[in-house]
Formats: sequence, structure tokens, C-alpha cells
Amino acid sequence: MVLTHRKKTRPVKVGNLVIGGKDQVIIQSMTTTKTHDVEATVAEIKRLEEAGCQVVRVACPDDRAADAIPQIKAQINIPLVVDIHFNYKLALKAIEGGADKIRINPGNIGKRDKVEAVVNAAKAKGIPIRIGVNAGSLERHILEKYGYPTADGMVESALHHIKILEDLEFHDIIVSLKASDVGLAIDAYRKAAEVIDYPLHLGITESGTLFAGSIKSAAGMGAILSMGIGNTMRISLSADPVEEVKVARELLKTFGLASDAATLISCPTCGRIEIDLIAIANEVEEYISTVKAPIKVAVLGCAVNGPGEAREADIGIAGARGEGLLFRHGEIIRKVPEETMVEELKKEVDKIAAEYLAA
Ligand code: SF4
Repeated sequence: MVLTHRKKTRPVKVGNLVIGGKDQVIIQSMTTTKTHDVEATVAEIKRLEEAGCQVVRVACPDDRAADAIPQIKAQINIPLVVDIHFNYKLALKAIEGGADKIRINPGNIGKRDKVEAVVNAAKAKGIPIRIGVNAGSLERHILEKYGYPTADGMVESALHHIKILEDLEFHDIIVSLKASDVGLAIDAYRKAAEVIDYPLHLGITESGTLFAGSIKSAAGMGAILSMGIGNTMRISLSADPVEEVKVARELLKTFGLASDAATLISCPTCGRIEIDLIAIANEVEEYISTVKAPIKVAVLGCAVNGPGEAREADIGIAGARGEGLLFRHGEIIRKVPEETMVEELKKEVDKIAAEYLAA
């Protein structure tokens, strides 16, 4: 499945990337380290980069964190977003320190001169501001109007913050409307996309652990992506943030929105199985996780229907008694001994990925 009809938005530059304006969804994650611990934070960001994270966000709760921004920025390769609540001085420090984007809600900064100071600093550096609406922390006047968090209330909150920035002639804006209730998040993003032409950052907040949170996020963000909505996303999990990136890549692959990741096709197994399919599938999945070409690799338990059914696979292996059948686009190309079939498959994967990247 390839989603070709993405809703058009304004393009917004974040570091060396452009968010919005085209058919790409940028993967983000957030560090779990104390931001002032530069060494630990940089190490975590390096792991995220390796996993395919394209933009990383760090929390900036105090001066120590803000002071660490230049050192972190100097040691990483992907754009750095600094997340600030309320405190405009921290925002100014983060911008001065080299942040590629800040996440702050202008309506929460306070007096107009403070908002202006932040907006002028962002303008001077050419960096965007992300407005982060959260169903759990809507402004009092909106809650009073709607009684409880609603999609309309969330969109109204976003428009309230957007207006503050637009009144100051600032348009490098990205908006998120996160909720932990999947239905509410879907509604809020759908309604927002109708009235907001800034890029939307997708998220289902507080979604849970690796297993449950991945499913909840995929359900919510899958529905939103299927409407052609979303320009950047973070899967929020109570887990190692590298897992967030892996889940995001997998989700984007499902919708044909990741052009730099390989996909595994593996059979569900049945009584015809001839090899240790589950272990092999896990090993191959791990191996292809760093492949940067959109190739499809199949691992099948037997040769009965497998190669034919996995016709769309660029390369694959099917178990046979004591051996493996290597196949390409549904056609068997050669037999390999069972003991070396995974290694043979890996070699073929490397070859095809290299051919693809050279083309
Ligand atoms: Fe069963 Fe073979 Fe199909 Fe796997 S490929 S599900 S082992 S028939």
C-alpha cells in the first residue's frame, strides 16, 4: 500500500530537513536521559540516529539543561528540538545554544514582551516553534467552554496559540494535538487538518509499554496516516526510545511512507514447517533493520506455497527437508544447505540493497 494523496501543508525547515509540504513523514523520538548529562544524552542520541531517528527532542526543565544544548548540538548529526514549558528565558537560552526547533506553547509564556522576545530570537535564527496541544492540559477557558477535553477544544487551543505567533508575523510553525485516547486524537488531527495548513506532528501520548503502546499508537496513528495526515511523528512508549523509532519505521513502511527501510515477509508457520522459522525470522529481521533500501525479504517455513505467495519479495528463503531454497521474485534461483542458508540470504540481501542504492 502506498499513500500518494498526502494533504499538502506549508513546508517548515528544521535543521537540514524540511517537514511538511511533501510525501514524507519524519521520525522523531525523545531522550530519556537528564539533558544536563551531556555524555549520556549524546550516547542515547547516537543510538537513536543509528536506529533511523531523524529528529530528536530533549527536555529542558532548568538552566543546567539549557546550558548543555551547545555541547549536545556539537556532537550529533540530526536536528535537535528543545522542549520547554512556560519559561521564556530557557527558550532564549536554547535558541542561542543552537536548537533547531523549540517546543513551547506561546499562550503559556506570559506577557507579550516575553513572547515577542522568543519569537524574535527564533526568527533571527530561522528556527520553527512547535505548538504542542495536549488533551490533558487544555487552557481553562477552553475546558470551561466544552466541559471536558474534546477534539474541537483541542483544535481551538491550537488556533489560539497559532494566532499569537501569526500576529507577530511568525509562520514557521508545527502543531501537535496529542491525546492518550485514540478516538479523541484521531478526531482532533482530522479536524485540525481541515483548518490548519502548518505541518502536523503526530503522537498518541502516554500510550503505554512496548507491546501495548505500540499497538495503541499504530491503531491511532495508522488511522490518521491513512487519511493522508501527518508530517512528522513520535511513537511515545514507556521503553527504550530506540524502540519508538523501530515501531515508527515499521508503521511508516506499512503505509509505503518509508523509502529507506527493508521489510520482512515471514509466514505464520503451520504443520508443514521444515525449518526453525521463528528464530530465523527474528535473526533476519534484526539483520535488515539497518538496511537503508526499501527491499522486501521473505522467510518461509516450507516450499509448498511459499515462494509463489511471497512473489513480491525481492529475495527470500523457503525451508525444504535439510536445505533451503533461495528465491527471487517468486522464482527459485538455487538450493543452499540448511546450515548456511541464513548466511546465504544475508549475502543476497546485501547484494540487492547495494544494487538498489547504486541505481
Ligand atoms: Fe505453512 Fe509453508 Fe505456508 Fe509457512 S510457507 S505457513 S510452513 S505452508
